[in-house]
Amino acid sequence: MLSELQVLRAGNVFDGVQTRGPGMVLIEHGLIRDVDFTGAAPPEYATVTDFGAEAWLLPGLVDTHVHLCWDASTDAVAHVTNGDPGTILDTARNAAATALRTGVTTVRDLGDRDYLALALRDQVPPSRRPEIIAAGPPITTRGGHCHFLGGEAEGADALLAAVRERAERGCDVVKVMAGGGSMTPGSSPLHQQYGPADLRLIVEEAHRLGLTAAAHVHAADAIGDVIDAGFDTIEHFTFMTHDGAGLRDDLLDRVVEQGIFASLTLGGVPGAPPPPPAVAARIDALIDVLTKVIASGARVVVGTDAGIEPGKPHHVLPYALMQLAELGMPNRDVLRSATTEAAEAVGRAGRKGVLGPGADADLVVVGSSPVADLSALTDIRAVYRAGHRLPGN
Ligand SMILES: [Zn+2]
Repeated sequence: MLSELQVLRAGNVFDGVQTRGPGMVLIEHGLIRDVDFTGAAPPEYATVTDFGAEAWLLPGLVDTHVHLCWDASTDAVAHVTNGDPGTILDTARNAAATALRTGVTTVRDLGDRDYLALALRDQVPPSRRPEIIAAGPPITTRGGHCHFLGGEAEGADALLAAVRERAERGCDVVKVMAGGGSMTPGSSPLHQQYGPADLRLIVEEAHRLGLTAAAHVHAADAIGDVIDAGFDTIEHFTFMTHDGAGLRDDLLDRVVEQGIFASLTLGGVPGAPPPPPAVAARIDALIDVLTKVIASGARVVVGTDAGIEPGKPHHVLPYALMQLAELGMPNRDVLRSATTEAAEAVGRAGRKGVLGPGADADLVVVGSSPVADLSALTDIRAVYRAGHRLPGN
């Protein structure tokens, strides 16, 4: 099957860790066979695509927090709650296609309805969608944050059953609403939904079954419980207070020491409507918290929450990465965060987010240097998923 060897060449390569000079990536059977920077000629039998001296080859991007079933409309909650399953599956299919066109070759879906992200993964071949790492409906309290997605469970038996059901259905990650949220009537980001014992139980069972565990949480006390429980990623991590946001240094230190991923919620497309009131009222305080988290050396990855509101359509990730840079992270570290680091956060270290032998052949080609200017990520020349070039770009 030697004739299946593809070679991609470009004047610049970012391999997921560092920037390299001119190079070529050898792809066979959907995997990267090798990456070469010696200037050697490609094998004669290979099919060669040369993107030119100005182009950059990068690993496909990873978004650690999306909602494929949500349509990014002004009434996304009503859509995902009331739509029939076929309609919601269409929404998810379109969302996945949009993400892939944007160069997002891996998404972690942290809240669907009726396990429709898994249905989508089964229906669409890998080369025509991003890799989908799915949580199913988030586990939440009765009437709690996002209860309308169907993941209500309280008490040890019900929580264990909920984790086991997700594992049996093929989920990769368990998502828990450790605290409340502002999108759900009657809920508040300051509410604590589960106690320390429940959180520990969920994480232990998820890990025992080979799943990772992600916690949605905003308020400091609940963040402390989530750290104690051993979650792999903390979603949002805003340290929201009654009238603002205030970092707790002791908790940030523990996140740094334990190597827990802080999955920060960033990104809004240009011209987006203002953020929801709970965020808008706290914006300066939130920026202060996020800036300190980024400067702390914590393992920061970006989840956009794509789908939840009009400012967050499913092509929002490049704008979130530009925002991460504005908050103080150097561009090269931003690229590492959205590739190797994010891949590890979602449980795909070595397979995603890296250009190296044995990794999945998920790549993005952009027209200029994203190290010099991250807006290059909106100048997509080609996207490859599992070795297949996406048609139309
Ligand atoms: Zn979310």
